[in-house]
Amino acid sequence: MAPPLPGFDQAVLDQCVGCGLCLPACPTYQVLGQEMDSPRGRIDFVRNVAEGRLEPTDGIVGHLDRCLDCRACESACPSGVQYGRIIEDARALLPRPSTESRVGRLLRTIALRALLPSRGALGALGRLLGLVRATGLDRLAQTVLAAPWARRLAPRLAWAVQLFPRARGRPFRPTATVFPPAAGAPPPSRGAAGPARHPPRVAMFRGCVQDVLFGDVQRATITALTAAGCEVVIPPGQTCCGALLLHGGDRRAAERLLARNVSAFAGTTGRAGGPFDAIVVNAAGCGSVLAEAGELLGTPAAHRFAGAIRDVTEVLADLDAADDADVAGRDTLSDEEPPPERRRVAYQDPCHLRHARGVRTAPRSVLGRLPGVDLCEPAGVDTCCGSAGIYNLLQPEISRALTERKVDAILATGASVVVSGNPGCLLQLEAGLNARAGAAAPSVLHPVELIAAGARARAAGTASGRPS
Ligand code: SF4
Ligand code: SF4
Repeated sequence: MAPPLPGFDQAVLDQCVGCGLCLPACPTYQVLGQEMDSPRGRIDFVRNVAEGRLEPTDGIVGHLDRCLDCRACESACPSGVQYGRIIEDARALLPRPSTESRVGRLLRTIALRALLPSRGALGALGRLLGLVRATGLDRLAQTVLAAPWARRLAPRLAWAVQLFPRARGRPFRPTATVFPPAAGAPPPSRGAAGPARHPPRVAMFRGCVQDVLFGDVQRATITALTAAGCEVVIPPGQTCCGALLLHGGDRRAAERLLARNVSAFAGTTGRAGGPFDAIVVNAAGCGSVLAEAGELLGTPAAHRFAGAIRDVTEVLADLDAADDADVAGRDTLSDEEPPPERRRVAYQDPCHLRHARGVRTAPRSVLGRLPGVDLCEPAGVDTCCGSAGIYNLLQPEISRALTERKVDAILATGASVVVSGNPGCLLQLEAGLNARAGAAAPSVLHPVELIAAGARARAAGTASGRPS
């Protein structure tokens, strides 16, 4: 018998009645087919370690490490087990395995702790990535390592190189902190569920790598919101959300970042009294941990902050922006003009939006109302794409197996565009689709990129004198 391990919440562990209804929803159980890599198996390990019946061996920690923390099991569980809490406690409390790879240790210590919270270090990373792209080194390495012999000899390296991000526009360096509603934006006559102010004022959470890797998504977020009639403010002093640290077991470091963000947005939240109607997030993984700030930090300010977190598609759906955009889009067309070209668009739920936050309707509603969009869903839309933060680098075999399934499902839809609202998912889907379909691969976009493109087209049409 090992001594009991303090720190676990016994009440949360006891929520699980062992029914096994979560097993079919679990991506690692789907791939590996064994109880030890299922939610029920992992909960059992944690309970036995917490109660002193099992030693936390490398083998046990290995099974816990293979969990994606995707929370699909939470959606499937009829007993409401807070699985995310259990796995995050386990990662924070159990010793790292002695067999952990050097890559894993480096990523956990340097990349997550030092790089992500520093805008200066991220800027330097952005310049380095730009240099690699400009010299064509990324494409060369991808071509060489895509060869079957390379994939056999160095499968991890081959997959890591495929994940190298393509440029999505120049980095985001906002020249202003306040962006007013766009000219011609619909008036803020909103339903009861919508933001209360006129015009609605929202604070934008920037995140960390989004500025460097997803400059276009950041700009499109502002365009989509201002076109919908919002005033967008970017509070200074905000930093990385800490999600990757929390999911990797470094709770203290994650809480420090969360506390910095709470104070950056302090006094700015709350529909009832603060100057902002919502804190808008365009990365599902960030939104999920920011919405847990109250529970993690336990302060009233953190609870107010957490309560104001909204995914950008939630705000747009509340504003009925897509509906307005649809109507406005049609109004700008004269009878002679052809209807917008129709595109088949596949929507893939980010796990932390669908399972951790329960946001499923808003993105579908916003996208489904865009002119010319035929929205479709790939099979297994509720299953992780294999990205899961740095999981794709730490567990490349399982990650790749999940991505291959996702690619099969997306290609079967015949979609020309794939949309998902999380940076990691975008990189993963793009890498998988490009590796399989090359130039014929569908485009991979964030929802706001489609919405902003429509808004820009309407603005251009109006400016060129088309009737409105
Ligand atoms: S979080 Fe995802 S991978 Fe982990 S046990 Fe639950 S369903 Fe499986
Ligand atoms: S986590 Fe929920 S669904 Fe899974 S075994 Fe436990 S009670 Fe059943």
